[in-house]
This record gives sequence, C-alpha cells and structure tokens, in this order.
Amino acid sequence: MNAWNTAVERDANLAVISEELEDFLPEKIFDAHVHIAPPDGFLPDRPFSCGGVPITSYTYDELSEDLRIAFPGRETGALCFGWPDPKLNTERNNAYVGSAADFKRFFPLRLLDPHRDSAEKVRADIGRHGFLGLKPYPDYARPSDVPNAEIPEMLPEWAMEIAHELRLIVMLHIPRSKRLEDPLNRRQIRELCTRWPGAKIILAHVGRAYYLRGITGFLDDLREFPNLYFDLAMVQHWEVMAYLFREVPIGKVLFGSDIPIALAQGKAVEINHQYTYVTPRPWSLALCDEKGKLQFTSFLNEELRAIRQAATVAGLSRDDIAALFHHNAKNLVMEVASRIKPT
Ligand SMILES: [Zn+2]
Repeated sequence: MNAWNTAVERDANLAVISEELEDFLPEKIFDAHVHIAPPDGFLPDRPFSCGGVPITSYTYDELSEDLRIAFPGRETGALCFGWPDPKLNTERNNAYVGSAADFKRFFPLRLLDPHRDSAEKVRADIGRHGFLGLKPYPDYARPSDVPNAEIPEMLPEWAMEIAHELRLIVMLHIPRSKRLEDPLNRRQIRELCTRWPGAKIILAHVGRAYYLRGITGFLDDLREFPNLYFDLAMVQHWEVMAYLFREVPIGKVLFGSDIPIALAQGKAVEINHQYTYVTPRPWSLALCDEKGKLQFTSFLNEELRAIRQAATVAGLSRDDIAALFHHNAKNLVMEVASRIKPT
C-alpha cells in the first residue's frame, strides 16, 4: 500500500521514471539515509507530517514496499535510523531500528542523545543490536536553543571515542543556520575528522547545501579528509551536485534519499540564495501550491533528475554512477558490519 500519493500522482511518478530515469538508474541502489519508526513510533494522536502526508509508523516492511515502487526492478538496500525528535521515545525507536534490521538489506544506526545517553548505554546497545554507528541531531544537543547547537555538543568526547575505537559511521546533520558557510561548523568538522580518524563521518544532505551559495567555496578545506563523506539526501539542485561531483572524489559521494519524506510530492527550490520546498499539500517547511497550478512528482524523483543532470555535466562514467548509487555506501556499511555483529 502506497499511502503517499493519489492514483494520479502515482502514475505520474512512474511515468517520470520510465521516461527520464529508466536508462540512467543502475541495477543496484543503496540508500544511505532512511528514517524508520516502529508501529508505535509517534505520539498518540500526533501523526508525523511527511511532506504533508500524515504517517503513524514507518516500518522496515513499509520501506521494503516503497522501495519496490520507487525503484522498479532494482535491487535495493538502506542504512536506517529513527526519528531524531527529543519528544519521541528514542529508546523505543532505537530498539526497533536495531532489532528489526536484517543486516542483509537493511542496516541500523543508533540515534544519539548526548544528555540521556551514556558511553555504557551506547556500548551495550551496539553489542546487543549491532548498530553500525551513530545518528546525532542538533535538537538533542541544545534542546532550548537548537539554532545555535554546535557539533561537539551533538557528539561529545565519549561518543566520538566509541565511534573512533569501533570505526563506526556517524551520520551528521550539521547545525546552525549558515550550515557549510559557517566557519565554526567547518572548523569543528575538520577537528572531528582529524581527532577521530577511525570514525567515518557522513555529512547528511551535502552539509544541508540545498542552494548553490551554500556550497560554493566551502569544500576547499573539507575535501582532504579520507574519513569524510557526503550524502545527497533531499538535495534536488543539479548545480549543487555538479559542484560536489567536481570538487570531491566520487568515492566520497553516497546516494541517500531521506525516505519516507522524499516519497511525498514536491520540490526543493532555490530563490535568491535561499531555499524552500514547494508542495501540493500544506507542510510546515514548504510553500503550498494552494491554487493547484502545478503537477508535482516526488522529491525523490526530483533528486534523481538532478543527479542525472549533474552526472552528465560533470562527465561521470557509468562506473562512477554505479559507485555513487550503490558501491560507495554499501562498501562502507559492509566494512563496519563485518566487524560489528549483534550478540
Ligand atoms: Zn534525514
């Protein structure tokens, strides 16, 4: 069951794939950025608005079904983590994401709340569930002042010691309104990579660079780190991607979607060096097309279109494209999974 779209939207989405993407998408796709929630994962009577579509859960079974529809005929897998929201039951979320992962297609990261977690708790959870790494979030770090959270508050020393020692993945959604443009953020990313070379740091959403000014010039002091990667989740701006593909080795670029949000209809757009989303359904992060002027496709299809355009402009080979969509992330995940086994 695909609750995301009306029948008309679903057919329109499939048409985008068959007409524009079928000959571009490789056979295997590994999504490095997926959110999972157990059947009781959200607050009672408070469904989560996923791009304007209310959902009450997002289980591995729902993901499996959606991947079948989103990527017809492709072999798919994903790196998964819960909903990073301090108002939800993070322990319950982590327990489900960890215990229900199959370690064949779907691999789990653990949400990290620096105030409520401890080194003992995190180590015990890794031992029990085989988490391949950590998913911190600004909202956990400084709940009363989220916009000013800093990376070391999201990832305290004791957490990075574990990530370094066990050579884990850290899925980092960088804080602060200026994102990569913020010199403090970039300095703290460099310190993280240098101080904890065992940790494998993924900058989610290309460091939240959804608009061209948000990335231009800001990879110069980040591209040298062998343990720093970039995921493409929810980026739908081909010039941002083309810039990334030219500036960093393609082995550092990981396909990610932000499913389930990416399954809703809409598009991220740049306007005057800023970005917003435009959606057919009202959503807190978006401008809504209330007049019904546009026919939309999914955020995911817009991202795939942008990857295609950027790959063409940046001159990526078929091998580069296969690596970007699958091998880079899958190899990273399998290297960690080969060492970290649930007990
Ligand atoms: Zn996400």
